[in-house]
Amino acid sequence: MIELLAAAAAGAAAAAGGIGGAAALRRRRAARVAAARVPERAERVSTIGQVLHLCVRGAPTGIVVLDISEDVILSNPAAHALGLVHERTPHRRVRDTALRVLDTGEPQTVNLVIPPRRAGAADTCVRCAVAPLTVADDRFVVLYGTDESELVRMESARRDFVANVSHELKTPVGALGLLVEALVQAKGDPEAVARFGASLTREADRLSTMITELIALSKLQGAEAPPDLEELPVRRIIEEAVHRARVPAEDAGIPLTWDCAADLRVRGDRALLVTAVANLISNAVNYSPEATPVTVSCARPDPETVAIRVTDRGIGISLADQERIFERFFRVDKARSRATGGTGLGLAIVKHVAANHGGAVKVWSRPGTGSTFTIELPAPREEGHPQ
Ligand code: ADP
Repeated sequence: MIELLAAAAAGAAAAAGGIGGAAALRRRRAARVAAARVPERAERVSTIGQVLHLCVRGAPTGIVVLDISEDVILSNPAAHALGLVHERTPHRRVRDTALRVLDTGEPQTVNLVIPPRRAGAADTCVRCAVAPLTVADDRFVVLYGTDESELVRMESARRDFVANVSHELKTPVGALGLLVEALVQAKGDPEAVARFGASLTREADRLSTMITELIALSKLQGAEAPPDLEELPVRRIIEEAVHRARVPAEDAGIPLTWDCAADLRVRGDRALLVTAVANLISNAVNYSPEATPVTVSCARPDPETVAIRVTDRGIGISLADQERIFERFFRVDKARSRATGGTGLGLAIVKHVAANHGGAVKVWSRPGTGSTFTIELPAPREEGHPQ
């Protein structure tokens, strides 16, 4: 058999002869097969045993074999990491399921929530398939455990998101309905019609902004391929973002200034970076009292990092709220956010834009003093200076 394989491999190598490296590799493999001697049966069995042992040891799935007296016959490192086995004792629910499988002979699946070993870490959600394994007269069960924590987290985030979106969209849609009703009833009163009409436009704009931002967020979260990155002057990004915020800042009586060195560059998607910086500026304007300045600047805090900062002297954010402001739909003051046309999505977008560029967004803030939001991005690699 081995000779046959060698001949076939050599033949294949000859047929493909001359196709550079691949053909040479095939020839070398064929020579190794030809040189291999046929092992004795006992030796073959022992080799297969070693191979299986290595496969089980290195498997990303947790594998445990239990016997009828509840002893752990075999377990791999993944099973210990997942908490299916601790030292030589199986997890209580794993053991109970294994005994049921031994009694009934039917495979079963059990979902476990394993508490973290380290304080502050998250639970691990493990899906464990338990199947009978009959070898000679002994009865064993085999358990395959997989870490489903990420799936469970994603599913719960998706459920929260759908609930939040439905709630958030219902509010402006409800307002639109009421305003249309009021408008119809006020048809003889031009002043009221104008007032309700303006409110209608505002609510429709809010709805439209929210939908645009939701689409932007879903694209940023992987529904579309990551953006094509180009090398850009940071100055251009800031200039464009400031330009977008100029009119709202003037309307709010907020002096908006910016400064950025001409030679500072980042690799990024221009539209996304402009949106992120514009969101920060818009917040700085919205959460500042009249006549307090908002400034935008850039820096290179270290050779690997480019920073874009937006600073205001506005209402500030408490430490507890700073932990939550990047969550979708979180607002410290819902009424104020509504009054400024906020959607509660602006900072979530900033966070995802920064993350998609391999960076992060940071906040420093003190209630009553003001806030500085910093987008940190990786500096582009310079010619002759690999990072
Ligand atoms: P919104 O559309 O409500 O502004 P964001 O996601 O942009 O939503 O911001 C979330 C919340 O964080 C805001 O509702 C506000 O409470 C707070 N916030 C954001 N930026 C600032 C800032 N510069 N100063 C004070 N509070 C801010």
